[in-house]
Amino acid sequence: MNRRDFLGSTAAVGIAAYAESAMGKSEEQEKQPGEFYEEPARQLPVRKFDVVVAGGGTAGVVAAIAAARQGANTALIEAKGYTGGIITEGGTALHSFFNVWKPYPGVKKVQLVRGIPHEIIERLTKMGGTSGHAELAKGYDHDSVCLAVDVEMYKLLSHTMLDEAGVYVCLNTLLAGAVMEGRRIKGVIAESRSGREVFYAQSFVDCTGYGDLASHAGAEYTEPNDYPLCNSMGVANVDVESFCESLHLSQYAEGLRSGKEGQIVRFQGTPKAEGVGMRLVTTTVHDDYLMFVKANVGGAWSKEKSWRVTDRDAMTKLELEARRHQQELIARIRTVPGCKTAFAARSSPSLNIRRGRVIKCDYDVSQKDVFGGRHFDDDVMAYGFHDHSRKIGGGGGSFGLPYRALRVAGIENLLAAGMMITSDYKAHMSTRNTVSCMAQGQAAGTAAALCSKDNRQTRELQYPILRKALIQGGVYLES
Ligand SMILES: Cc1cc2nc3c(=O)[nH]c(=O)nc-3n(C[C@H](O)[C@H](O)[C@H](O)COP(=O)(O)OP(=O)(O)OC[C@H]3O[C@@H](n4cnc5c(N)ncnc54)[C@H](O)[C@@H]3O)c2cc1C
Repeated sequence: MNRRDFLGSTAAVGIAAYAESAMGKSEEQEKQPGEFYEEPARQLPVRKFDVVVAGGGTAGVVAAIAAARQGANTALIEAKGYTGGIITEGGTALHSFFNVWKPYPGVKKVQLVRGIPHEIIERLTKMGGTSGHAELAKGYDHDSVCLAVDVEMYKLLSHTMLDEAGVYVCLNTLLAGAVMEGRRIKGVIAESRSGREVFYAQSFVDCTGYGDLASHAGAEYTEPNDYPLCNSMGVANVDVESFCESLHLSQYAEGLRSGKEGQIVRFQGTPKAEGVGMRLVTTTVHDDYLMFVKANVGGAWSKEKSWRVTDRDAMTKLELEARRHQQELIARIRTVPGCKTAFAARSSPSLNIRRGRVIKCDYDVSQKDVFGGRHFDDDVMAYGFHDHSRKIGGGGGSFGLPYRALRVAGIENLLAAGMMITSDYKAHMSTRNTVSCMAQGQAAGTAAALCSKDNRQTRELQYPILRKALIQGGVYLES
């Protein structure tokens, strides 16, 4: 796809302004009328690392652990006070560590995603924090496997594992800019209550979900914003058994709940009672708690039709709308038998969307690749889940993701992992899922560390070296 095609492929488009520190006024500012204040230049303290990972969420946790385990002096910059990202805030269950085998006679069930993501889940399960890998017993046309997590335990475990790997974890720290040397990132600007600092490194991985680092560095991106926004809450004082009995269940999966096997851990349904008016898809690992109840806003769901996640003012209005919506949902849940005293015990710190910015990478995975079960000569992972299709993976229920899909186009030392890659909407319905993002994180973190070791650009890394390191790190490759 050439640049014009890429730019034309979605509604809202942008080419990020270079970091102000490198290029002066941003394009955004050039467009804005009105008054400007010229910020005086100031000296910032410099910290030096081999690898900096921006964003400690779904992909970033795994990327930073992988980089540190390669021996790289690694820093992780995370804006919130905990690690784990959307796994702990927005998603319902982790999809999926396995291939889609059921539609294909003769194809065996295979665990495709292993390595660090598998290690995280094994440890979390021992802590009592997962449903185990739960096969869908009814509904959902992909015949797949999902895994529900205890989100608070996930926050604790992910941070613990980062500490164990020796990652320099900076929480409550915003990545606020990039210091460029031509097409190479020299450093990133980190802002926290400890002040404004510069983190220099050889290699960088953008795992911010919305491509904040890539956009600061001047990478090309689009802004599809083509899903509703969502704030999900945890609802306590719910009798999950009676709740399920009172619904017409269109979908459910069974697994571990409050330590007992064979319990419903993910379900979707509408109330049998008339007038309740809600359609829930939710997960749980506890008998009296719904881990995720989503309040959608934006687009068809909302008074606000026009917004982008990069538009602060629109997002602020929608945050208020989402909080109102949540309390309406609580009122409805209270009318369900066994839920009279239900209340919101947790909510996400901010709205989430399945994709805001999509960053242009050297290769853009397509629907044909995903549905055709394509493998590449630089595969860094195998994956086998898609939101709406049993026919993923052309007969084997899986496909490969190439290293070049993680290299941010036009930037010499930046990799990307997570929901910000893949512009094709239908392909993104696969690559953005949590377990794919985690596996991408291991690939990107490993590659970044190898690049920094030999002082190479991301395009100079020899694939056999990366492949060997990934396999040593427990990654399963199908080709
Ligand atoms: C509503 C919803 C439902 C979903 N349901 C499912 C599901 O059922 N199953 C499934 O598998 N997937 C689901 N997904 C998809 C999946 O959860 C996400 O695509 C995936 O978790 C994204 O991972 P990520 O690492 O790209 O981003 P995140 O997990 O969001 O991590 C990004 C991290 O970067 C940090 N960050 C961002 N900007 C900055 C900055 N400037 N400085 C410092 N830190 C920063 C954030 O705080 C965050 O911790 C869902 C997604 C949404 C939104």
